[in-house]
Amino acid sequence: MDHRLTALLTHRYPPGPGYQQQRQQMEVQVFMLFQIVHSAGSAIYLVFFILLLLASRVPRTNPGCGWWAGAIFVAFIARLTFLNVQADDAALAKLLYALLSITEKLLLLIGAARFFGAMLSSRTLLLITLLMQLWLLSAHIYQYSSAVYSSGLALFNAACLLLFIITVWRGGAALQSGIKLTIILTCALLMLHWLLFVPISRMLYQDWRTAAFIIGTALVVMQYTALIAAVLSLFQQRLLESESKALELAYKDPLTGLSNKRYVDALFGKALQLATRPHQFLALYYIDLDKFKPVNDQAGHKVGDLVLKQVAQRMQTCLRSTDICARIGGDEFVVIATQLEQQNQAADIAEKILQSLQQPYTVEGKTYQLGASIGISLYPNHGIAFTELLEKADAAMYQMKNAGRGGYRIFHN
Ligand code: GH3
Ligand code: MG
Repeated sequence: MDHRLTALLTHRYPPGPGYQQQRQQMEVQVFMLFQIVHSAGSAIYLVFFILLLLASRVPRTNPGCGWWAGAIFVAFIARLTFLNVQADDAALAKLLYALLSITEKLLLLIGAARFFGAMLSSRTLLLITLLMQLWLLSAHIYQYSSAVYSSGLALFNAACLLLFIITVWRGGAALQSGIKLTIILTCALLMLHWLLFVPISRMLYQDWRTAAFIIGTALVVMQYTALIAAVLSLFQQRLLESESKALELAYKDPLTGLSNKRYVDALFGKALQLATRPHQFLALYYIDLDKFKPVNDQAGHKVGDLVLKQVAQRMQTCLRSTDICARIGGDEFVVIATQLEQQNQAADIAEKILQSLQQPYTVEGKTYQLGASIGISLYPNHGIAFTELLEKADAAMYQMKNAGRGGYRIFHN
């Protein structure tokens, strides 16, 4: 016998009168503690089963969470079985526990394959699990030594955990790095637990199972907590993505990438807030391209679209980041320039835009010449409501069109 074990046992159960009785008493105490650990473990697993089941109901999250709920449910049943059979037949309790914990690992891996979209085939996993279960049955029937039996189980569990780590590593790109790291770290610790802690504590301590189960339960709980966190964080990510996509669809012009009229309506209030500092005002430009229709008619709608994109890019280069630039119709654009100090600044911006738009456009090797007519209304001089300012800028733009195009007009009554 290992001298450390002998020393430990001698220390705990010193030989002498009443030695057998003391030893029995100690074993009863260990068994009771063991039962408490298993009961607490079962209760925690049940709670995690419910949590994972709820997480699997979260809409638009990755599939696979239901398999993890199944896995922890099997772990829960394994604990209960172990707890109830142990007193009658320890070998049978061990076998049932091992068979169920193998099934738990299978379900865990299938869940990972679904959740992380990895290439683990469920059929292969099932086959490996069945082979492992057959090995355990034969080990039970032919009464292999306890060490062979437990090391087989430990190796299987460690291999499953390694596969799990690889799956998370490869497929977890969308996961937050903290969550990814926690899952990997917990699995690595569980691997160490199966490969080192269980065999070492088995050699050293009489009540090694209690310690092994406490540590094992803590690590499994950490592992499943990290999985729940992964489900919820991906759900949150999806929610934010779809919200920003919806906002983009609602407020962006798909052709030019500029804002649309709805956005201008919604954000005009913000622009006003910026403009309401003393002595500052705001200019609204209604811009309609001159003779744009002939480009469409001669070169086709596709070329017309490409020209519109270039128009949008040029307009943006003329503006500051706080200004608003939107396409509100076919060849109609609205620009809102904020934080202006003097009226002639509004005219300067119009000049700049005109000059930029009048440069030739090259599309698919051909050059097109365009111009623009711009109408300007000023806040607060010409109104304070967006619709009023838009109407006035539109009227000024038509005046410019009628006056021969290719210039700007500031609204006046
Ligand atoms: P004007 O000088 O009087 O402004 O005339 P125009 O030729 O520019 O034509 P107008 O402003 O009256 O009409 C705009 C044209 O823009 C009408 C339509 O053929 C074209 N158009 C509208 N939407 C789109 C679009 O999304 N893509 C393309 N390629 N053309 C469009
Ligand atoms: Mg036009």
